[in-house]
Amino acid sequence: MTTAVRCGVLIDGTGAEPTQGATLLFDGDTIVGVDRGGEVPPGADVIDAEHLTVMPGMIDCHVHLGSSTWGVQERLLMPFSLIIAHALNHARITLEAGFTTVRDAAGTPRGVKMAIEQGLFPGPRMRIAVSALSQTGGHGDSVMPNGASIRPVSELPFTVVDGVEGVRRATREVLRAGADQIKVHTSGGVMSPNDEPGATGFSPDEIAALVYEARAAGKTVMAHAQASQGIKNAVLGGIHSIEHGIFLDEEVIEEMKRRGTFLVPTLVAPLWVVRRAEKDPSSVPPYALRKAREVMADHQASFRLAVERGVRIAMGTDTGVGPHGTNAEELERMVEGGMTPMQAIVATTRTAAECARVAHLTGTLELGKRADLLGVEGDPLADIRILQNKDKLALIVRDGRVFKSIGTRAPSAVS
Ligand SMILES: [Zn+2]
Repeated sequence: MTTAVRCGVLIDGTGAEPTQGATLLFDGDTIVGVDRGGEVPPGADVIDAEHLTVMPGMIDCHVHLGSSTWGVQERLLMPFSLIIAHALNHARITLEAGFTTVRDAAGTPRGVKMAIEQGLFPGPRMRIAVSALSQTGGHGDSVMPNGASIRPVSELPFTVVDGVEGVRRATREVLRAGADQIKVHTSGGVMSPNDEPGATGFSPDEIAALVYEARAAGKTVMAHAQASQGIKNAVLGGIHSIEHGIFLDEEVIEEMKRRGTFLVPTLVAPLWVVRRAEKDPSSVPPYALRKAREVMADHQASFRLAVERGVRIAMGTDTGVGPHGTNAEELERMVEGGMTPMQAIVATTRTAAECARVAHLTGTLELGKRADLLGVEGDPLADIRILQNKDKLALIVRDGRVFKSIGTRAPSAVS
C-alpha cells in the first residue's frame, strides 16, 4: 500500500532549498518517490500535510535514555529494573519530540533497543554504546567520595579499566554486550566526582587498542573529550566523533577537518546542569555545578570556531543530563552559536545520520531511505524554536509507521 504525503513545504535534509507542494510517497517502511510536481498516484492513501513543513525525523547523536535528572540519592535507591522502565518511557518521550533515531552514549542495555525494534514499546531507532570505557578515577568512574558506587550491577559490562590489555578486554566485552559503537572517556568531565574537564583520560596506546578492536568489529568509537589533550589524543587515535569538544583549538580543528572527524557539541548539557541546580540544588552535586559554570564560555567559543572552520557537526544533546523530550533546544543553541537554521537542521538530519552510521537508512528524504518524517506547523527556517513545541509537531512517522498524526486525515496513531 502506497502512502502519499502532500507536503506544504518539503525540507529534504540535504541542505537543498525547500520546495513547495511536493508529494512524498512511501510503501511499507521505504520512500518510493519524491514528486516535486505533487502528483498523487491513484489508489494511494493520502496524508494531507499541506499546512505543514515536512522534514526528516530528527536524530540526536548523544542521549542517555537510561539516565535522567535524578539526584545521587535517587539513583542509589533505584533498582536497575526501574531504570529500564524509565528508559523505555524516555524512548517514547523522545519520539514524541520528533526524534526518530538516537545514538545512546552509554547506560542503556541492548534489551531496550530490542524492545523498541520488536514493537513492544514506541521509540526511536537506536544505536547504543552500552557501557563507556573509562580509566580508574576517570569520568566514568562513579565511585563516590565515601567509596560507594552509583553504577548499578547489570548487563552493562564493567568498563573502568587500565592498560592496553584491560582496555582491549573491556572493548570486546562491550561489543559482546551488543554495542553499535564504543564510547570512551578521553578526558575528564562535569558530572564526575573524581576529575576535572581539563584532565586527560587514557594514553594514546590505550586509545589505539580500543580503536583497533572497534574497527576489527566494524564499529566506530565516540569519545567524550572536553580538554584539548584528550581531544587531540582521540582525533589522532582515529576516533569517529568528539563528544562535547569544550576546548578546541586551531590545530585540532584542522586535524578533524582533514580526517572528517565529527563534532557532537551538546551545547545544552552544561546549561541543564545549572538549571537543575537552580531549581533543586540536591539534584546536582556541587562539583558538577562549579565545573558546568567554568566550561560554558569555552564550550560556546569552541562551537563558534568549529562552525566557522567547517568541521562536520552532528547534533547531540547529552539528554539525561537535561530532561528527555527537550532535545530540540539544541538547534536553537546551535543557531545562537553561529549556524543558520538550515545548517542546524542538516546537522540534526543528514550529518547526524552520517555520524550515527545510519545514513543508508535515514537523515534525508530521498528515494530508498526509510520513511522517517516530521511534519511541523510553521516554518522552522524562520523560527527554529518551533521544533521544541510538541503541539506544533503534527506528524511523526518512523519506518513508515504513523506514530502521531493530527489534522492530516491520516490513519490514527498506531503504537
Ligand atoms: Zn553523555
